[in-house]
Amino acid sequence: MKGSVIFEGQELFPSKVVCVGRNYKEHIDELKNEIPSSMVLFLKPNSSISKELYYISEDCHYECEISFLIKNGKIAAVALGLDLTKRDLQKALKTKGLPWERAKAFDNAAVFGEFIAIDEVDTLNFELFINGELKQKGFTEEMIYKPLEILKEISSFMSLVDNDIVMSGTPSGVGRYKEGDTFHAKLFQKEKLIKEYIWSVKGEK
Ligand code: ZN
Repeated sequence: MKGSVIFEGQELFPSKVVCVGRNYKEHIDELKNEIPSSMVLFLKPNSSISKELYYISEDCHYECEISFLIKNGKIAAVALGLDLTKRDLQKALKTKGLPWERAKAFDNAAVFGEFIAIDEVDTLNFELFINGELKQKGFTEEMIYKPLEILKEISSFMSLVDNDIVMSGTPSGVGRYKEGDTFHAKLFQKEKLIKEYIWSVKGEK
């Protein structure tokens, strides 16, 4: 089955998801990573895309991220997404200098809510609540690399085609989650709420 996302009522099939790692200083600090000298980029395949949030494993972390849908080489729409990460496995792979697809590119590892059209990409921010408790807050102003810089850097070596998705990195506050948890994510443009997402964590698929 092909992974799809929804934009303006239409089902779209992204060929890939390009993710930025280490784009918020506080998240770099919480994982004790170094600030990268160049942009950290990695891919999630179409097969990792899901609309539902599943419990994956005990060491699996959520990372809520402002996510962009690309049309004609430009940002056409935005949604909140979850970059699911098997943290212990990722650490083990990183330590050995190995690729981290096993920790990041598994089935249902890229969860997206519905995309909405936007013109302005530099004033977006979000809040993620789990079971009513605020866990993450992200602002485009606090990103090390801003959305347009990210697009430019990716496009310098890899083509972005229509319906591809770019995930812009996660702020601090990542963590584990369990079956039955309720995720409530709010997307704002400046102070204005523009979209809300609710995911109830389903059992292992
Ligand atoms: Zn991430």
